[in-house]
Amino acid sequence: MCQFCTQHGDGKIWYKNAANYSQDLLADLERRKYIENFLSSAFSEGFQTLGRLETIFRKKGKLPDAVKAAMLKKAKAEHFGQVLPIEEIADVVTRAATIVRMPCACRWNIAKKEEQCCYAVSYGPEAWYNDIDMSYFGKAQNEGLETLSAEAAVSQMRAMEEQGAVHTIWTMMTPFIGAICNCRPEDCLAMLTLSRTAVETMERAEQVAAVDASLCTGCGLCEEACHFQAIDSHKRHGMSHAHIDPSKCFGCGLCRRVCSAGAITMISRS
Ligand code: SF4
Ligand code: SF4
Ligand code: SF4
Repeated sequence: MCQFCTQHGDGKIWYKNAANYSQDLLADLERRKYIENFLSSAFSEGFQTLGRLETIFRKKGKLPDAVKAAMLKKAKAEHFGQVLPIEEIADVVTRAATIVRMPCACRWNIAKKEEQCCYAVSYGPEAWYNDIDMSYFGKAQNEGLETLSAEAAVSQMRAMEEQGAVHTIWTMMTPFIGAICNCRPEDCLAMLTLSRTAVETMERAEQVAAVDASLCTGCGLCEEACHFQAIDSHKRHGMSHAHIDPSKCFGCGLCRRVCSAGAITMISRS
């Protein structure tokens, strides 16, 4: 189990703990204020900060420990994510009372292009997402949130996975869980932070991918699909089959999706 399960799981995986979606957490005024300013503080400022950190990383080969620790402390307290395979995402979505789809804040920040791949969920009558400042996307306050069923949301997320998207859940001031994202390495703030500064602002899934070597043909498609460089499918000892490094695997399940031999399963990380 991850650090969040220990701190916020109450004996369960933390995102299965109903307390982390509760309306009591939403009543917290500090959290309401955070949500109002969320898009500009987490994304506009987040991308600016990433630019500065990337410069340091390039010069020194790593971030100073104190900078890294401060980044992680802030991310874990405010907006922290976890990668989830699709079956776990489907479980989170189908338990929600209401679901809306909204534009992706990262892609808007980078390209001012609207792509509807973020989902906000609410587990009670009061929906936190109504307080989001939609002027970030150049929209009026009552524009840009599209209500949809759990079934439709999961089906859209499966289609995005077909295009290589990684599913993630996010806190709105931890431990309150509110958002589900479908991210690509080239424009997701968290994935760019990982690739450009080696700082992990999201947890790995509670699952990890495993290969059944007796089924693997060594085609290499899983290695191509993995955004986290966790798979090596090169020949070893005259044999060719995929090797997954569990210490690098984030548990997204993209490799399982592309494996037509059915050689990859997701197993518990612990
Ligand atoms: S975390 Fe992913 S889906 Fe969410 S805003 Fe960023 S790129 Fe878009
Ligand atoms: S996609 Fe499947 S068959 Fe191909 S190398 Fe990966 S595990 Fe083996
Ligand atoms: S090995 Fe598979 S499950 Fe793990 S990060 Fe790579 S694609 Fe995702």
